[in-house]
Amino acid sequence: MTYRCPVCGYEYVEEAGEPREGFPAGTPWAEIPADWCCPDCGVREAVDFEKV
Ligand SMILES: [Zn+2]
Repeated sequence: MTYRCPVCGYEYVEEAGEPREGFPAGTPWAEIPADWCCPDCGVREAVDFEKV
């Protein structure tokens, strides 16, 4: 599953994770903290992301 930031278009792909943020490949979206901010724009939090 992929989730997209509504502001900058950054996409979090569960299969790839986000190692630079401490989330290894395969980390499901459900395990991402709700107050985690988008690593690209820092404006939106995980709860604002839209499922692609
Ligand atoms: Zn963003």
